[in-house]
Amino acid sequence: MFLSPFRPVSSRTGSINSLKVICFQVRSNTSVTSLPKTPASKNGASQVETTKPGATMPSTFSSMPTGMLVRSLFISGISSNRYLLIPALRLLSFLSKPDRSYLFNVDRNIFLHSILKKTVYDQFCAGETLEETNACVQKFKKLGFKGFILTYAKEVVLDQKTKDASGLEEGVDIAIETKVSDKKDKYIENWRTGTLQTMDQVGQGDILAIKISGAGPSVTKDLANGKLPSAEMFAALDELASQAKTRGIRIIVDAESQHFQAAIAATALELMRKYNRGNEALIYNTYQAYLKSTPSVVQYHLSEAEKGGFTLGLKVVRGAYILSEQRSLIHDTKHDTDDAYNSIVQGALRRQYSGFGTAARPFPSLNLLVASHNRDSVLAAHRLHQDRVKAGLATVPVIYAQLHGMSDEVSFSLLRENGEDGSPPAVYKCSTWGTMGECVGYLLRRAVENRDAVLRTKDEFLALRKEMARRIRARIHF
Ligand SMILES: Cc1cc2nc3c(=O)[nH]c(=O)nc-3n(C[C@H](O)[C@H](O)[C@H](O)COP(=O)(O)OP(=O)(O)OC[C@H]3O[C@@H](n4cnc5c(N)ncnc54)[C@H](O)[C@@H]3O)c2cc1C
Repeated sequence: MFLSPFRPVSSRTGSINSLKVICFQVRSNTSVTSLPKTPASKNGASQVETTKPGATMPSTFSSMPTGMLVRSLFISGISSNRYLLIPALRLLSFLSKPDRSYLFNVDRNIFLHSILKKTVYDQFCAGETLEETNACVQKFKKLGFKGFILTYAKEVVLDQKTKDASGLEEGVDIAIETKVSDKKDKYIENWRTGTLQTMDQVGQGDILAIKISGAGPSVTKDLANGKLPSAEMFAALDELASQAKTRGIRIIVDAESQHFQAAIAATALELMRKYNRGNEALIYNTYQAYLKSTPSVVQYHLSEAEKGGFTLGLKVVRGAYILSEQRSLIHDTKHDTDDAYNSIVQGALRRQYSGFGTAARPFPSLNLLVASHNRDSVLAAHRLHQDRVKAGLATVPVIYAQLHGMSDEVSFSLLRENGEDGSPPAVYKCSTWGTMGECVGYLLRRAVENRDAVLRTKDEFLALRKEMARRIRARIHF
């Protein structure tokens, strides 16, 4: 069911409308299997055969601990059944409202808290405390994941009565509202300390994901006006980048709504210019393949990397805002988005994209992050990378990421693929941490946002069920 830490999340207010949308979509859309499989792409994307539900998947889950298997089976059972999913979404929507009485307060009602904790929370979130989050990070590393991508649920919650781009109600003076003293903006300050705390929960080789709109009204106002954030915000970003560098942690700048995105991408570009000086990217920017404009943004960033001699950190996603963005900015069909996604990822892997990668115009240094639950795209990228390594052809360093609690089948399939050196590809799980109260709205938004993935859980449910049956049979035979 759920997740993806990407909505600016200015509020919890969109939930009911969004819920209505998803209820309609769940009713009217039969199954994710109706989505087109990745076509033989005009840009040469290699085609990967889609696994039939349950046909080969049980062994994919063989390394999953039984407790995790049981929980995943329970959650995907609900997610893949619209008669269960719709009431579950309504319940989450109800619980995510602020100021609930004791009975429905997810932080104060111990009984409610423990039911949610053992089910949805543990499935999709890393922990409520430093210890819990660390334990979760370690658990995934023991399963073979290279590392964790962590974000903080609270950082993205702004005033829920948001009425303008800044996140404040109309008529409120941002300058007065945001200053904690003559010198500091309290929202930037809170964001800075919250993000540093998040960084404390991961270690060397892990990744911190940041959402710039989480830094409050003055920052979102600049972003909405297409301006780079203030010097104070850049100082906070500089502090994060320097600390991350010292600790061997990388930073991803998440992509958000188009309302803010041009300025977010410009900010990320400035950070990459400054911090990605060697052949390894400390900072990654996120590129949303569903936008018609993204190929030209990638081209521009490649040319800036070429001119500036820095490494481009290219995290490619399809995009999470299709329900709220201006539709004309987004590709007309899912097929077009798939093609754009595969074209960017595979172009990077071949070191040939948009005029770069020729004798006249060499391909700049680039580190790729393939962030997707789409089995076809992910496995096609992995196979292409492997083929090029085997053939001694030039390629780029690549890592893969899926969200915690989602598409485990894709993550575990990747982990079972051994490379030339016998080790699996670098697969990361991306999660969020925060108290139950902070995360419940996040869980709901993810459920609404990722409706395609919610429907795809039918396949995952069947595969998990088959693996469970296999384990039970094995026990009985003994
Ligand atoms: C690790 C990770 C990090 C992420 N970070 C971000 C981020 O920073 N910013 C962000 O916006 N998203 C982010 N996402 C979410 C991502 O953008 C997608 O919403 C989500 O992963 C679903 O896409 P998919 O590639 O997994 O595959 P699929 O499930 O195959 O694709 C679904 C996606 O296809 C697109 N789509 C669906 N229908 C249509 C249509 N009719 N026309 C055009 N396009 C269509 C939409 O983008 C939709 O989300 C992240 C995802 C992951 C796994």
